[in-house]
Amino acid sequence: TDRIHPLIAGNWKMNGLKASIAEFEAMMAGAAEVTAKADLLVCPPATLVSAFAEKALGNKAIVVGAQDCHAKASGAHTGDISAEMLADAGARAIIVGHSERRADHGESDVVVHQKTEAVWRAGLVAIVCIGETQHQRDAGQTLDILRGQLNLSLPEGSQAGNLVVAYEPVWAIGTGLTPTARDVEQIHAFIRELLIDRFKGEGAKMRILYGGSVKPSNAAELMAVANVNGALVGGASLKAADFLAIAKGC
Ligand code: PEP
Repeated sequence: TDRIHPLIAGNWKMNGLKASIAEFEAMMAGAAEVTAKADLLVCPPATLVSAFAEKALGNKAIVVGAQDCHAKASGAHTGDISAEMLADAGARAIIVGHSERRADHGESDVVVHQKTEAVWRAGLVAIVCIGETQHQRDAGQTLDILRGQLNLSLPEGSQAGNLVVAYEPVWAIGTGLTPTARDVEQIHAFIRELLIDRFKGEGAKMRILYGGSVKPSNAAELMAVANVNGALVGGASLKAADFLAIAKGC
């Protein structure tokens, strides 16, 4: 099978002010150098999507995304932002179902499914996050949890061009802990098998990202694992040097 070109996606979470535009410009400046290794996506907070997207116009090596959206296109939903609005602001992809959204806002797989369809309705790529908690892992439920999340969160019509899966063990996010390369290999192989079962050839081509405490020092080892087609990076995506170094590890 052809090698899937990796994607390094940065999730800035609730970090970044207008002053951070300079850091994004530093990422853009280094992006061309890593584009042979990986595509780059930066997902700043919604307040910065439009500013970043305007800066990135004409830069072929980096695109801008967002971290969440509402399932509806518009309406009486105070404080919410639709996928259409984010597309209008210049986003090309939206993360949905991040464990922090699932935990802080009670997002269920059903909601993640609706948001994924909203992302497509706006013409964007959905990055759907799944992952087990420490408690579930200790109870030996990891594969059952992932199977359930994938079955319920991914809509019919998922294709390599409109959907990216991000496997993010909740216990590895922001903790400095990572699964072993062997664990990542087994879990990504399991996810690949489920994607092929359901989406056939498209499932074989979909990117499966690993996320959770990826940093320059561990990126090369994790990115070398079979069926790891890039990374979703939180903390280490805030600094251009770290983010670019992770991409160089692909
Ligand atoms: C994330 O939140 O998607 C993430 C992987 O965070 P970190 O890299 O900081 O663990």
